[in-house]
Amino acid sequence: MMVLTKKMIEIRSILQKVGQSSSLALPSIVVIGSQSSGKSSVLEAIVGHEFLPKGSNMVTRRPIELTLVNTPESEEEYGEFPDLGLRRVTDFSSIQRTLTELNLAVSDADCVSDDPIHLTVYSPNVPDLSLIDLPGYIQVVGQNQPLELKQKISELCDKYIQPPNVILAISAADVDLANSTALRASRRVDPRGERTIGVVTKMDLVDPTRGAAILNDKQYPLRLGYVGVVSKAPQSPGLFKMGPTNLLSAIAKHENSFFSSHPLEFGPDAGVNVGTTTLRKKLMHVLEQTMSSSLQSTSDAIRQELEEATYEFKVQYNDRPLSAESYLAESLDAFKHSFKQFAEEFGRPQMRELLKGELDQKVLDLMAARYWNKPIADLSVVQLEPDQIADLPKADPSSLYWHRQLDASASALTKLGVGRLATTVVSTSLQSHVDSLLKNSHFATHPFARKAIMEAASTILNERFYSTSDQVENCIKPFKFEIDVEEREWAQGRQHVGVVLKKELQDCEAALGHLESIVGGRRKLKEVMTFVDKSRKGDIVVEGDGRSGAGGFSAALLGKGREAVFLRDRADIIRMRLMAVKSKQCASIKNKYYCPEVFLDAAASKLASTAVLFLNVELLSEFYYNFPRELDLRLGRHLSQEEVEQFAKEDPKIRRHLEVIRRKELLELVLEKMESLKQLEGRDRDRVAGG
Ligand code: GDP
Repeated sequence: MMVLTKKMIEIRSILQKVGQSSSLALPSIVVIGSQSSGKSSVLEAIVGHEFLPKGSNMVTRRPIELTLVNTPESEEEYGEFPDLGLRRVTDFSSIQRTLTELNLAVSDADCVSDDPIHLTVYSPNVPDLSLIDLPGYIQVVGQNQPLELKQKISELCDKYIQPPNVILAISAADVDLANSTALRASRRVDPRGERTIGVVTKMDLVDPTRGAAILNDKQYPLRLGYVGVVSKAPQSPGLFKMGPTNLLSAIAKHENSFFSSHPLEFGPDAGVNVGTTTLRKKLMHVLEQTMSSSLQSTSDAIRQELEEATYEFKVQYNDRPLSAESYLAESLDAFKHSFKQFAEEFGRPQMRELLKGELDQKVLDLMAARYWNKPIADLSVVQLEPDQIADLPKADPSSLYWHRQLDASASALTKLGVGRLATTVVSTSLQSHVDSLLKNSHFATHPFARKAIMEAASTILNERFYSTSDQVENCIKPFKFEIDVEEREWAQGRQHVGVVLKKELQDCEAALGHLESIVGGRRKLKEVMTFVDKSRKGDIVVEGDGRSGAGGFSAALLGKGREAVFLRDRADIIRMRLMAVKSKQCASIKNKYYCPEVFLDAAASKLASTAVLFLNVELLSEFYYNFPRELDLRLGRHLSQEEVEQFAKEDPKIRRHLEVIRRKELLELVLEKMESLKQLEGRDRDRVAGG
């Protein structure tokens, strides 16, 4: 029938994807023999190509799991290294080089490794076979080799020659079979010689009568028998010019002519098996038989694996179906949903608050630059305690100077680039909201998707940036010429700026407190501050610029002292301005020159409200509309299957879940294939029995 092996080889390749455990191993033919017994030559004769590593420096260091696939419908011959992703290598000398490199990658110190190399050869000229080539047994350990090497090779071979594998024990005819390491190893694991095929190489090196006697050996009987081969061409200078295929056909010719020239010993009536062709047929037949008889036990093992996977799926994952695509789609939906919720909560009022906060800061900066740097006395319009009044003459509100001060401040406020500022503030806030939504989503564990989503947001925001900031700038233009504040707006500004000043005062006081703790207490800070104050007034002459320290204080301490003096003065002024704002004079817009803080606050509010109208249309609505679409584009259909898989597997929990499902599916597939094979087998047996 010979279909079974092919099918089983297919099944094996599926099982390899499952992550084959030893219980799932399908039978292979394991090739063992001592070094130079002719092992490589036999394998190459079976494959019909020279492809194995050659050289004196122990070149087979890793098991080579060689799968031969017969492809009768195609002329092409090629090899594949599935683990390396190397496909369709048609040049067998390149296969040989790759194998040599893979073997020599095992260090001299280790010398052997049990990590197998997988190689599949497709050709119309090979039988369907699964062979494993192992490092040759050595008699003596070489100079640069580890002492325990002999032992290591032997252990590695022992691992592979276990049932259900078939053992191909190679011995050379010119060495007494009693001394054959391969046969000795085989006898240890297969004492009755049930699953060992004996191959006797170099038949041309012994007398034909003696050769025939070896093949008829009764001392070490093997149920599957011995096959004698000659797998080396006679020396001939012409051979060097031959291609590898010709070389092998020359070998075959030589072998044929050798055996047929001794018909008495090796002819059809001699009762011995000889020749590579005979060997190939035997291997196919034996493997097929072995596969067939292990069908039941293997499918039992697979069923058990499947049960375990099913159980894990049920217990760990509640039978919840999952695919990389569905995971991505669900995650994306959930994210879009959370974004929608955010969009409902973040609108004009929130933008206005953000922007106003930013403008409040600008107002404080303007005040500091244009008003608060004046001697305190100039600004005080407040009724203070009687003893203080003498020091604080009032500023003259009808003075043109104060008019110009306020006009210049208002103009600076409207011209600071509100368009750009507003757009930046809102864009940045949207970006950081998207980021925090991401952190609370499935995507938190997926760097690839996180990046895609952040890029989606920034792309839209960047695209809208210039037009939005231009529009906003345009629409606030009228305020650059005149700011009309109504009494209602004034009242709101007065109340609001009070809050802002209070907050600023608290910040100053907190910063002072922090400085105190840094320099080591209030008293210490006071001392430095007093020194700084005195040196400012000129009461003390500080040598140099004071950078290297003065008055017994270090430079660092003096620096802190100056900072503290600044904060104290700022706090004093703010305290005073707070009182001013609260005072009656500031109750009405009529006194706006007394109360620049209130006026600027009202102006900032107008700017913020107007800007927000346009931000809403130009930026926010556009963003809310386009962002989910951009997400679909970047994480939706146009991602390749591989990208989706890669995405899903970034999360270890999801990876495990997907793996269990995949394992389950593959095992189900394998089991189904096995079942139909078994039926096929059963039918065949019935036919044979019936016929
Ligand atoms: P390995 O070390 O067991 O893989 O052995 P090789 O296949 O490399 O063969 C060892 C040596 O024996 C090489 O020089 C081969 O050319 C030679 N050899 C292999 N088979 C035969 C054979 O059938 N007849 C003769 N005369 N030499 C052979």
